[in-house]
Amino acid sequence: MFAHVIVDVVHSNVAKPFTYRIPDGMAPEPGMRVRVPLGARQVEGIVIGLSDQCEVPPARLRSIKALLEPYAAVLPAMLALAQELALEDHCPLSETLRLMLPAAMRQSRVQAKQEPLAQLAANVDAETAASKQGRSQKRATLLRLLADGRPHPVAELATLVTAPQEALRQLSEAGLVHLSFREVFRLPYEDMPAVPTAPPPLTSEQQAALAIMLPPLTHGEGAFLLHGVTGSGKTEVYLAMVQQVLDLGKSAIILVPEIALTPQMVGWFRGRFGERTAVLHSRLTDGQRLDEWRRIRLGDARVVIGARSAIFAPLEKLGLIVVDEEHEQTYLSDKHPRYDARRIARSRCAREGATLLLSSATPSILSFAMAKRGDYTLVEMLSRVNGRDLPPVTLVDMRRELAAGNRSIFSQLLQQRLKACFDSGQQAMLFLNRRGYNTFVSCRNCGYVVRCAQCDVSMTLHKGSQDGADELRCHFCGATQLPPAVCPECGSKYIRYFGSGTQKVEEEMRRLFPNVNTIRMDIDTTQQRDAHYRMLSDFREGKAQALIGTQMIAKGLDFPHVTLVGVVAADLTLNLPDYRAQERTFQLVTQVAGRAGRADASGEVIVQTYQPEHPCILAAAQQDYRAFFTQEFQRRRTGLYPPFTMIARLLVESEQADAAEAMNGRLYDTIAAYLQAHPAQQRRVLLLRADCAPVQRIRGKFRFHVLLKLFEHADAQPVLQLLGELAQVSDPHCQIYAEVNPATLI
Ligand code: ADP
Ligand code: ZN
Ligand code: ZN
Repeated sequence: MFAHVIVDVVHSNVAKPFTYRIPDGMAPEPGMRVRVPLGARQVEGIVIGLSDQCEVPPARLRSIKALLEPYAAVLPAMLALAQELALEDHCPLSETLRLMLPAAMRQSRVQAKQEPLAQLAANVDAETAASKQGRSQKRATLLRLLADGRPHPVAELATLVTAPQEALRQLSEAGLVHLSFREVFRLPYEDMPAVPTAPPPLTSEQQAALAIMLPPLTHGEGAFLLHGVTGSGKTEVYLAMVQQVLDLGKSAIILVPEIALTPQMVGWFRGRFGERTAVLHSRLTDGQRLDEWRRIRLGDARVVIGARSAIFAPLEKLGLIVVDEEHEQTYLSDKHPRYDARRIARSRCAREGATLLLSSATPSILSFAMAKRGDYTLVEMLSRVNGRDLPPVTLVDMRRELAAGNRSIFSQLLQQRLKACFDSGQQAMLFLNRRGYNTFVSCRNCGYVVRCAQCDVSMTLHKGSQDGADELRCHFCGATQLPPAVCPECGSKYIRYFGSGTQKVEEEMRRLFPNVNTIRMDIDTTQQRDAHYRMLSDFREGKAQALIGTQMIAKGLDFPHVTLVGVVAADLTLNLPDYRAQERTFQLVTQVAGRAGRADASGEVIVQTYQPEHPCILAAAQQDYRAFFTQEFQRRRTGLYPPFTMIARLLVESEQADAAEAMNGRLYDTIAAYLQAHPAQQRRVLLLRADCAPVQRIRGKFRFHVLLKLFEHADAQPVLQLLGELAQVSDPHCQIYAEVNPATLI
C-alpha cells in the first residue's frame, strides 16, 4: 500500500501530493498527520489518500517515518472542505489544510500536558504497608491517602503532604505505589466554574421561531435567516436549538464576533451545557487552543462557541451551525487564504447534513436578499423580551450646534441627557468609530499635513497617558513620531489639529462631568490579554457610569443599567468610499442603539450627524430594517453594486512604485486581451480599470490595482479563474493578490 501525502511546506515546488511507502504494521488513514522524508529533511504532512498502485520507481520510493497521532487530525469532511477551498480560491492545498489545525499542533510547538499520578499498587494493603514505614511519617501518610486504590494527581497529594515526590519514588521502588501520567486539558475557564442554569419560559416569539426551526433540525435540514431586533432574545433560541442537537447525539458550532464573545456569552453556554462546551478565540494561549481543539476532536466537547476560525472545529456528527451577528465583517478572513466563514458554514452544513442558522438584528443586504429569493427561510422576532419598544432615536443636526456657537463635540441635547442619566443613577454609552485624540495635524500657513513616512495616510495624535508624551501614530503600520513644533514644510509655528477620536470624547466627558467615572475601550486600551473583559465587567458592576468606545462596544453587549446611548458622529462610516458605507452606518447605529434600555428602565438614543436628512440616517433613526433594506436594495440595483454585481481586483504591491505600476499595466493588458478574445466573457464585465489603489502606500509598499465589476453569475467563473492564475505570476519585485468581493477596497 502507498500513501499520498501533502507536505506542510508552502512552496510551488511541493504543491502536489507525494507518494510514500507504508511500512509494515503502520495503518495510516486519510487525514492523519505523518512525518515523512523530503530531500534531506523530515517534514510533517497529511495523508490525503491511499492506493495500491504507485508510479514512483521503487528505487526512489521512500517510507513514512511515523504517524503523529493515532487518529485523523483532519476528518474526511474537513479534508473535502480543504480541497474545495483550495480549488475555489486558487491556492495550494497545504495552505487550506493549515486552517483545519491549531497552529501549535504543527511542528509539535506545544505538547500535550501530562499530569503525574500515584496509585496504590494492586494487592497492597495500605494500612499494613503504612505501619511498616518505620520513621517515615510521610510515606505512611501517603499510603493512607492512596488507600482507596484510585489514581491521585501528585499535585493533589502535594497540597496535603509537602514535597511528596521523593517519598513516592521510594514507595514506587518498593513496589507499593504505581506512578504514571495522565493527559490533562488546559481549560480556558478553569477558574470560572460553570453555574448550571435552566432555560427561562420562552416568549411567544421565541416559541414561534423554534416551531419553524426545530422540525427541520431533527432531520439535519434547513437554512434559516433569523432577523431578531436587539434584545429579542436570540441567544435563548440558539440555546434551545443546541439542546435539541445534543439530545439527538449531534454537535453544534456557534460563531460569534470575537468582540462579542464575552465571559457573559460563554457563561450562558457553559451554564446550560457544562463541560461539553469548548471555546475557541484568539485570546487563548497556544496550549489552551490546542487542548480545546483536542477535546473537540476526541468528542468530549460537543458544543463549540468561537470566533471566525471556529468554523473549522473538528466536530463529528455536526447538527447545527449558528452564525450570530451574521452581518459582521469579521467573518471575512483578512489573511490568506481569505475565506468567508459564512460561506464555509453553508458548505459544511450541506456536506455534513446540518442545519444553518444565520442571525442578526441587521442582516446583511446579501443574506436578506437571499432569504427573499428563497435560499434561506426567513424567521422574524420583532419585539423585545422585556416587552418594551426599541429605544427612541433623536437626531441632532450638528451644523446647527456650530451655528448656535456650541464648539463642543457634544451637542446641547446630548449634554442634557447625559446629565439626566447620571443624576438618575443610570449608565451611558458613547460611541465614536475613531480612536486617538485628533485625526489629523496640519499647518495653518501652508496646509501641510503630517503623513506617515511609510503609508499614504495622515498621522493621528494620541495624548500621552499621565507622564507619557503626546505622539503621532500611523493607524496602518503603527509608526510613531513626536508632534512637530514647527511646520516641517514652511517653518510656521501655527500647527492645527482636526477631527476627534475617542480620547477627545473621554477628555470632554471629564471636562463636563468631572465626578463621573468613564471607561474608554478601543484598540489602544485593550492591548493586554483579557483587558476588555475586565473593562466590561467593571462597567457591568457599576464601577464606571460611562463607557466610551469604538465599534468594539457596538455589538452583543447586554448591560441592564444602560439607558442612554450617544452616537457622537454618525457620518464617519457614511462617508467611507465604499459601496457598503450605508449598510455599515445603518448596522452600527441600530446595533449601538440596541444597547439602550435592555432591562426595566426604558432607553433613549441620541445620534449626532451633519446629514440628518440622509435616507440612511433617517432609516437608522426609525430602526426600520425593512425600509432600509428596500431603499438600499434599490440603490444597489440602479447603481449596479453587489449583490447585483461582483467586485474583483488584482492588487499589486511593491517597494518600487515603477515595478508595481508596470506590473499592474501588464496585468490589465492581459485581462483586456483575454476579454477581447472572449466576447461572451466581455459581456459579463461592466468595468475594467487600472489605477493606483485608494491607499497608495502601506508599510512602504506602493499599491496599484486592476479593478473589475462583473455581473454576478456562474458564467463569470472563467474571468475569476484568470485572476486567480494571474495572482500566481511570480515576480521578484511584486506581490499580487486576487480578491473577490473583498471586505475593504483600500
Ligand atoms: P439579542 O441577542 O436578541 O439582542 P439576547 O439574547 O442578548 O438578545 O437577550 C436579551 C436579554 O433577554 C438577555 O439578558 C437574556 O438573558 C434575556 N432573555 C432572553 N430570553 C428570555 C426569556 N424567554 N425570558 C426572560 N429573559 C430572557
Ligand atoms: Zn507650513
Ligand atoms: Zn504607516
